Amino acid sequence: MSRTVYLNGEYLPEDEAKVSIFDRGFLMADAVYEVTSVLGGKLIDFAGHQQRLERSLNELDIQKPDAFDDLLEIHRELVRVNGIEDGLVYLQVTRGSPGDRDFVFPDPATVKPTVVLFTQSMPGLATRPEARDGIKIISIEDQRWARRDIKTVQLLYPSMGKMMAKKAGVHDAWMVQDGAVTEGTSNNAYIIRGNTIITRALSQDILHGITRAAVLRFAQEAQMLIEERDFTIEEAIGADEAFVTSASAFVMPVIEIDGSVIGDGVPGGRALRLREIYLEESLKAAV
Ligand code: PMP
Repeated sequence: MSRTVYLNGEYLPEDEAKVSIFDRGFLMADAVYEVTSVLGGKLIDFAGHQQRLERSLNELDIQKPDAFDDLLEIHRELVRVNGIEDGLVYLQVTRGSPGDRDFVFPDPATVKPTVVLFTQSMPGLATRPEARDGIKIISIEDQRWARRDIKTVQLLYPSMGKMMAKKAGVHDAWMVQDGAVTEGTSNNAYIIRGNTIITRALSQDILHGITRAAVLRFAQEAQMLIEERDFTIEEAIGADEAFVTSASAFVMPVIEIDGSVIGDGVPGGRALRLREIYLEESLKAAV
């Protein structure tokens, strides 16, 4: 069945939505994006994603699209017309199409940003077997650009990382820079020692995860301690538990890194509890 997608103010069948070959998103990865999950037909953490979008646009000096204030309504309409129960809404804003290729940014007075949104249906998104069984990961070198706090569509290296993981027969990869874990290819990375959650501090080195912010808040409310600091793969392997967070994976336990099991080799109790709390609280606040 053909999806209805959103492109620059119009709701269109997916095969009728067309973007110029001169669009800077296509030619230069000059674009930012957000992914918001949908559970029970409702959007999780929408406000956080909209705020981060605004920040990404500001950091790159891409003008705020006219549709910015209507984004909640557009998300909801796409969820409704496509009958999404569980899944995702993908949103992308590019610097637009100047009608030719040029490294210099086009004049924002004449070239408007391109705005695209589409849904992905994922029945059972919150009850995937990986959440029960945990995931295995490998470590790889972090070879991305240095502004990972901006959510750009430059996803070639993370995509290569996922392929390295696939080749190694595991689910994902954690990236390492100067001996310390930055984050997963599409998620934030954590370890737990005793009652303490350890995760890299926010900086330009990592994406400021919307799920990360919520999970750390819930962890604090659950009387867990939080240490925002660097950690190594060696420390992670010796930890009691490990997990990742993202808008689509929520809280996902990690049970093995580079072939070494974490703890007992099964999902840790604290990670599972955090997942429960995150889902419960986020569903209550869903819009
Ligand atoms: N880090 C990276 C590199 C990501 O791609 C993502 C997911 N977009 C995250 C972290 C998690 O962010 P969020 O919780 O906002 O989905």
